[in-house]
Amino acid sequence: MLVVMARTATPDLVARVCEEIEQMGLTAHPMFGTLRTAVGVTGNKQQVDSDRIANLPGVQEVIHVTRPYQLVSREFHPSDTVVDVGGVKVGSKEFTVMAGPCSVESEEQCYAVAEAVAESGVRIFRGGAFKPRSSPYTFQGLGEKGLEILAKVRERFDLRIVTEAVDTETLDMVTHYTDIIQIGARNMQNYSLLKKAGRTGKPILLKRGHSATLDELLLSAEYILAEKNPNVILCERGVRTLANHSRNTLDLSAIPFVKSSSHLPIIVDPSHGTGRREKVLPLSRASIAVGADGLMVEVHNRPDRALSDGAQSITPAMFRQLMAEMRHLAPVVDRVCP
Ligand code: PEP
Ligand code: MN
Repeated sequence: MLVVMARTATPDLVARVCEEIEQMGLTAHPMFGTLRTAVGVTGNKQQVDSDRIANLPGVQEVIHVTRPYQLVSREFHPSDTVVDVGGVKVGSKEFTVMAGPCSVESEEQCYAVAEAVAESGVRIFRGGAFKPRSSPYTFQGLGEKGLEILAKVRERFDLRIVTEAVDTETLDMVTHYTDIIQIGARNMQNYSLLKKAGRTGKPILLKRGHSATLDELLLSAEYILAEKNPNVILCERGVRTLANHSRNTLDLSAIPFVKSSSHLPIIVDPSHGTGRREKVLPLSRASIAVGADGLMVEVHNRPDRALSDGAQSITPAMFRQLMAEMRHLAPVVDRVCP
């Protein structure tokens, strides 16, 4: 349920509405807009008796939200959310490209890739220190040593960091080092991890599960917002289908759906979405055209020697070309790309 306050409603009247909501055993989420304030209501198992609130002074309208998710919905929050990652505004007019290797392998590897992507205009560096691998016998990541390398990359190249937290046990450690906590596809419905990550208050990059519907993706984001953390960036990274010409099927139709249903920014990962490096550039072009707020791309200085996801990692030269094309296309869709 959403309580729309009158333009003239004073902060005292907003507080009175919040108090009434809390007294009903529900949670109030005041949202102060430039023109008016709205108060979201969550925690109800069934339709709330809205008369109790509708008749309070300062209340203009009470709207029953029809979607299963509330805090993430546009109905609840009509304007776009912009997630501020140390000055990089994800979801703004700027098209944000996050890039780096699949895994942090060594200082030399990260420095080589970071230097190349920073030169191409990237301000957010990706790299996994904890890797959720399908096989227990493959490279699992460097763990805390990898996080230390990422911290050095941040200092040396003035980059923000995004890295994955794979479980609640290591979440605090990851939170300490990173600017954005990545929740991977395999963990999209790990609700205890979502709640704990939400409570950190840090920006969260939430990747769509391999077989998740968009309602499920948005409901997972709802877990984070319900912890009073609005800093969520969604990521379309492909889903499993019968197609065998690519690792996953990159569902670009997700972008306009999410943009109309939710106020959260959404980026595309064409690397995991296709699994093949030659497909990363064409799908990146399509992503900016379809309205994505950015990309997450795997780049490796020696893709043939990568310890994970080498087949989908592009070289620094290919990445330079990709960024040049994004800069070229951005104005066509009324965006800017640094
Ligand atoms: C990754 O970004 O390296 C990763 C493991 O992604 P996903 O969770 O989408 O598979
Ligand atoms: Mn990867």
